[in-house]
Amino acid sequence: MALPKTRGRAFVISSPSGGGKTTVAARLLRALPRLTRSVSVTTRPMRRGERQGRDYDFVSPAAFHRLRRAGQLLEWARVHGAYYGTPKRPVLQALAGGRDVVLSIDVQGARQVRRALGRRAALIFLLPPSVEHLRRRLVRRRTETPAAIRRRLAAARRELSCAAWYDYTVVNDRLTRAMQDIRAIVSAHGRVVARAGGAASGQERG
Ligand code: ADP
Ligand code: 5GP
Repeated sequence: MALPKTRGRAFVISSPSGGGKTTVAARLLRALPRLTRSVSVTTRPMRRGERQGRDYDFVSPAAFHRLRRAGQLLEWARVHGAYYGTPKRPVLQALAGGRDVVLSIDVQGARQVRRALGRRAALIFLLPPSVEHLRRRLVRRRTETPAAIRRRLAAARRELSCAAWYDYTVVNDRLTRAMQDIRAIVSAHGRVVARAGGAASGQERG
């Protein structure tokens, strides 16, 4: 019997700023080398320690809007005063080739990915133990000015209410525990796809 034709899944990880997306996604990619990471384009300035093309593709607003108008973004949003978007082609190519992709994007982007990819996307919301934890983590990360931290915490209160429509919520209290939960979600999705015999039919459940 021929092997079932499999296609990849998109794992969308969202959280308020400081919630741990970058940390969790990096650990997930190290632990599971079969996953690929979507590199977003953004108009925000590069932070110390970031690298062009690795952390983000840093572009001018004009270049961003050219990509958007040309339909080259799977989703895009304005977040904390800058534009962010997911280049469409690398994600669709990975999925078509059977590779799973991790997207660390905000709640507006997650909604658009759900519309574009349906159940092929699994939406995971990382919850901080409390807003006070978020504040402390952002202060400790030392990448944001006090004004930017205030802005991100105000946004966090709005974003947290979106956790309800995600497929999964994971509390990022102890990082090792959160990683166990996320790995379980990723492997459960893999198994369901395999059992559904290709899953392109959309019969698998999220
Ligand atoms: P995001 O990408 O969601 O903005 P980060 O991954 O940059 O968040 O995490 C924000 C800060 O909190 C980083 O300095 C990170 O090392 C730290 N952090 C992440 N998860 C935890 C955790 N479970 N416990 C304590 N600190 C954490
Ligand atoms: P940061 O500037 O801290 O890297 O990210 C700020 C916010 O933008 C985070 O919530 C992050 O998930 C979100 N973000 C990063 N890339 C994208 C993207 O491509 N699309 C959308 N919609 N949000 C993104």
